[in-house]
Amino acid sequence: EIEVLPVPVRDGGNPSIFLIVFYDRTVARQTERIRTDFVANASHELRTPLASLTGFIETLQGPAQNDAVAREKFLAIMRDQAGRMSRLIDDLLSLSRIEMKRHLPVSQPVELGAILRKVADQLSPLANDMGLSIETDLGIDPVLVAGEPDELMQVFSNLVENACKYGRDGERVVLRLTTGEERGRPIADASVVDFGPGVAAEHVPRLTERFYRVDVGNSRAMKGTGLGLAIVRNILLRHKARLMIESQVGAGSTFTARFQRLSDRSQTSLKNN
Ligand code: ADP
Repeated sequence: EIEVLPVPVRDGGNPSIFLIVFYDRTVARQTERIRTDFVANASHELRTPLASLTGFIETLQGPAQNDAVAREKFLAIMRDQAGRMSRLIDDLLSLSRIEMKRHLPVSQPVELGAILRKVADQLSPLANDMGLSIETDLGIDPVLVAGEPDELMQVFSNLVENACKYGRDGERVVLRLTTGEERGRPIADASVVDFGPGVAAEHVPRLTERFYRVDVGNSRAMKGTGLGLAIVRNILLRHKARLMIESQVGAGSTFTARFQRLSDRSQTSLKNN
């Protein structure tokens, strides 16, 4: 954006000096657009279950007043819709809390293997209920990264919940931790692997957008809010970690978070800080 401003000339006469100002408003404008889109989407997502609740309340007060069977059925649907609103609100609050902290540095040394093990233990009962099993492949060496343990728990819980939601019955979900080097620096890759339907390539780059969902016609997936991967992305940004998604339709998906690995020496210096 270019603006041309006449510079006032003190001792009268016509201004003959002009100031040409270049503004780069693209980023500000884009941020503003994303924010307003988000508010519109969030309101829409909340309004849908609310409209359904209102509709059922009216039916219960009117036509279904004396129909015990219908009443039970409608109350069950209403409970589901209220649950959906509550999950949406929880995820919206998580997302805004995390976005506020996005620029704060993380400094605690965290053992990634312990985080993954804990997530596997916590989510195994849920996975079993859904007909899947969680396996871990973590190696034996401790792998340290700078991080916030609660936020990292949330990253891998979200990824494992997705792997279970979109995974195939009777299949495994694998939590894998490997180490290596990238441009001479030590890295750690923490992956969640599933053998579900996968995601078509054209959707992959958009999966971490807020409310972006792919319709897979799976009733378990209906429970999702479309915010899980946006939360993952924001937490990983704070950790300067990268999310990599590999997926093959019909074969499964691997979601990998790549961290800078701390050496034992940096662990000591972090502790002293
Ligand atoms: P949701 O609440 O819908 O799961 P997410 O942000 O966690 O929201 O995920 C966004 C979309 O990415 C999902 O709706 C789904 O289409 C796709 N997705 C995420 N994880 C997987 C997976 N493991 N396998 C297949 N598709 C996935």
